[in-house]
Parts: sequence; structure tokens; C-alpha cells
Amino acid sequence: MKAARVIGQNELTVEKIKKPILDKEKNILVKTKKVGICGSDRHILHGTNPLATIPRIVGHEVVGVVDEIYGDTQLNIGDHVVVEPIRPCGECYACSQNRPNVCKNLVVFGVHEDGGMREYFSINEKQLHKVDNNLSFEKSVLIEPLTIGAQATSRGNLQDGDTLLIQGAGPIGLCILRYAKLKDVKIIISDLDQSRLDYAKEQGADITINVKEKDLISEVNKITNGEGVNVSIDAVCIPKTFELSILVASAAGRVVVLGFDEQPANIVQMPITKNELTIVGSRLQTYKFTEVIKNMENGKFDDFDLVTHQFELSEATKAFEYIDKHPEQVKKAIINFN
Ligand SMILES: [Zn+2]
Ligand SMILES: [Zn+2]
Repeated sequence: MKAARVIGQNELTVEKIKKPILDKEKNILVKTKKVGICGSDRHILHGTNPLATIPRIVGHEVVGVVDEIYGDTQLNIGDHVVVEPIRPCGECYACSQNRPNVCKNLVVFGVHEDGGMREYFSINEKQLHKVDNNLSFEKSVLIEPLTIGAQATSRGNLQDGDTLLIQGAGPIGLCILRYAKLKDVKIIISDLDQSRLDYAKEQGADITINVKEKDLISEVNKITNGEGVNVSIDAVCIPKTFELSILVASAAGRVVVLGFDEQPANIVQMPITKNELTIVGSRLQTYKFTEVIKNMENGKFDDFDLVTHQFELSEATKAFEYIDKHPEQVKKAIINFN
């Protein structure tokens, strides 16, 4: 069988490896069907993901079919499954607080251990969620990215009637948008790229702001009659957008941060105290797969056509290069398996 492995900075090979053998711990063999390429996979390839170790088979947005089972399990051969990438220790403080996504000893599939960009992989059934076999793989490959949207909106305690600002209309911003749309909220989205904003509008954004032409703070003030947005999510993740996300928040507002940037931002205490803001991080997801799968099976994301580019496993290198060269064209690229 074949696998796409990052072997060094900007070095990806598609190589032959042994098919895994099942045991008690890794009791399910999955035949991979589709794997989404995510910004974090690209960071691993470019050597800019400080959390990852190489060599590494990347891929954490993974759907496949149960091919073989070891011992007793709830799953059956032929079941369609999506991978839950996080494997927490169950013993640290975060785990005791029911927040395994920030476990001190967290192992993420495709980051800290080999992921899904291979024809078969073995994994414990705890990390697999069954999905309706009638759901297309092209759709179910979006489940993991949508869990990121589910996490960000829940971390922001998004409520019916809220006004939400999402900075950034890339794949993460769009997944947040689609998840937020499940509630009765007014959604403003900002970006520098008009075509991304046009797509966000098609996907249900109420108001778009092109920050190349307009000032975000004054636009938000106009739209909200000076109140600011109740939930402010930064999916651009640079110091400037973090600063803005605080300045546009309303009294009693929530600010959600998803970035890993290590550059300091210029943040003052005044708006935080005056408005009693809640500023929270949002990383990966906690227990969000079940609700995302249910919503997808109920047709909530039928018109979410995020996948714009598809490649074969043998073209993995080309796929990554293509995204680097044409970031404006690619919303989500995926790797197809037989
Ligand atoms: Zn991802
Ligand atoms: Zn833990």
C-alpha cells in the first residue's frame, strides 16, 4: 500500500509501506476514501508547525470504510467512518475538566502520530464515528473542518439573536459561518479578497466587508448602531486581526481566537474591562462530531460545496504545490483514494 509522508521541510514523498496489522489497541482497519488538505498539513510540510514532528504521514480530515476488525466492536465491515483526530490521556487537568482537546499529553492524528494520507490505517474504534453510508465521501470529508466551526461558535457562546463577526473567509471562516447559520444570528464576514466574500455571501453571510477598501471598526459600528458585535471570531489569526476582534466587540461580548501566531499584539485593558469581554481560545474540538454528523445527515450542509480541487494520492506533492501557488482558487483540496 502507499502513503504520502512528509520527510523534511518542503519534502513530501509517496512511498510504499506495509499494511498495518490490527491488535487490541488499534482494533479497526480503515480503507481510506478521501482526505482533506488543511492549513495545518501545509504548515507541517513547510516546517512551520511547531507542534508536529517529522517524518510524518499527514492528514486529519479523513473518511473511509471499515475494512477489517479485531475482537468485539460496535462497528461492522463496510461501515463508513470519519476519524476523530484527538487522542487524549484521560488523566491530566484538562481531561478531568472534560476538555480533552487541550489535554497536556494530546496526540493528534496526522500531527503527533501518522495520519490518514495512506491507503489503509489502523486505529482504535473510539476515534471513529460512523456516518450514514448514503452520505457522499465528498460531503463527509467536511465533517472534521465543520467541527472546528462548531467548536468556535460554542466557545463564543453564540446565541439566537446575536450579531457575529467572522474575520477571514477562508475554509475555517466558512466552516464557522456555516455552523453559525444553524442559529438565528446576523453574520458579518470580512476579508481582503472580494471573490471569497462573494462566496461567503452565497453561503449565507448577511453582510460582507472588504477590508481592502473599508475600515472594519467604522463599518461594524455603522451596521450595529455603535453597539459592536456580540461574538467576534478571528479566523485570520494575525496580531492585527486579534486587536480588531477586541475593538469591535460589544459590551458583554465574546472574542474567539484560533491562531497559533507567536507575535505580540497591541491590546489595551480598557475595552476588555469596560465591556467585560470574554476572550477565549478555540482549538480543535470537544465532543462535536456527533452533532456535526447529525446536522450533515439531516441535510444542513447539502449546499456547502467547499471542495474545489481533487487529486489522487500519487499527485499529493502536486496538490500541495497547487494550493501554495493558487491560494485564491482553492477553497478545499482533497486527496482521493480508490
Ligand atoms: Zn484541519
Ligand atoms: Zn489529558
